Amino acid sequence: MDENLNIRKETVNTADREFERQLRPLSFEDFKGQKQVIDNLSVFVTAAKRRGESLDHVLLHGPPGLGKTTLAAIISNELQVNLRVTSGPVLDKPGDLAGILTNLQEGDVLFIDEIHRLSPVVEEYLYSAMEDFQIDIMIDKGPSARSVQLTLNSFTLIGATTRSGLLTSPLRARFGIKFHLEYYDHDILTGIVKRSAGILAVKIEDEAAVEIAKRSRGTPRIANALLRRVRDFAQVRGSGEIDLDITRYGLKALNIDQHGLDEMDNRILSVIIDKFAGGPVGLNTISTAVGEESGTIEEVYEPFLIKEGFLKRTPRGREATEHAYRHLGKQFGNFMPGTLF
Ligand code: ADP
Repeated sequence: MDENLNIRKETVNTADREFERQLRPLSFEDFKGQKQVIDNLSVFVTAAKRRGESLDHVLLHGPPGLGKTTLAAIISNELQVNLRVTSGPVLDKPGDLAGILTNLQEGDVLFIDEIHRLSPVVEEYLYSAMEDFQIDIMIDKGPSARSVQLTLNSFTLIGATTRSGLLTSPLRARFGIKFHLEYYDHDILTGIVKRSAGILAVKIEDEAAVEIAKRSRGTPRIANALLRRVRDFAQVRGSGEIDLDITRYGLKALNIDQHGLDEMDNRILSVIIDKFAGGPVGLNTISTAVGEESGTIEEVYEPFLIKEGFLKRTPRGREATEHAYRHLGKQFGNFMPGTLF
């Protein structure tokens, strides 16, 4: 179980980061799926390059692990500019942001992950930087302290968020380009698993790649993490090559759900079925029962459960589907005592 949680965890440690870096696509051609986003982005990037201007600010939203950071790196590669990476919670004070902004070169890309977690003062400070490429900085202290306006090099801000609902409208309005990333289907994920196996120089059977793809919650980060673990099983318990048997063995040992649902997905479904007779039940009630923020449930967990047909959103609340009952091995339909007699 712990092993399972480890794979799903969104906070990645240094070894995981290095592994992810190794597998990160570097160009639009390498990036699989999200076709419409890629088609449009490559037009905007080409147009900006031809005009010799910086690309408009880009907002990417969607659940964790779908490729937001990867896309930011690809955009900076394609624009042939530097990429500077930071995140909302790290930028504590306007001064932190000013330090980064004044160091950007003409056309550079600044990537702010979890941009919905910027503090209001830092966010406000960002407005004039985004709009006019200008910031005010305080120089000197005490009675001689004064604010001076600094002109920045023009740059592209790429903001990533899992919780677009938490973005303020003034910030959202300052992004000229906005994209939502969708979960990946099995075919595309299978392609991603095969590509990663190629980079890791490990042989993988087609059926094994499909099996890993199916259990990855529509998410490339999870697909790559599962591939890495299955490769360990293949090396220690198998022949070194990844076939279907060793994949199933490994996934079973890791407690990976058949449909790729993670612990929280299953907890949400169980709560709706066991505590609220399958629903309809309100989002806030589910949130309290599972101990997760309602916004996170709505924007990170629910979309996948709905896409896979486990959950329905109705005007009266969330309802578990028959598919969810079957998945959890529970009987569907309300048993009404007396109706049999
Ligand atoms: P996010 O920033 O949305 O949380 P990342 O960009 O960090 O996600 O992606 C996580 C991992 O998944 C990366 O290591 C990357 O290699 C892989 N990945 C994401 N999207 C794709 C894709 N479309 N094609 C191939 N690999 C991908």
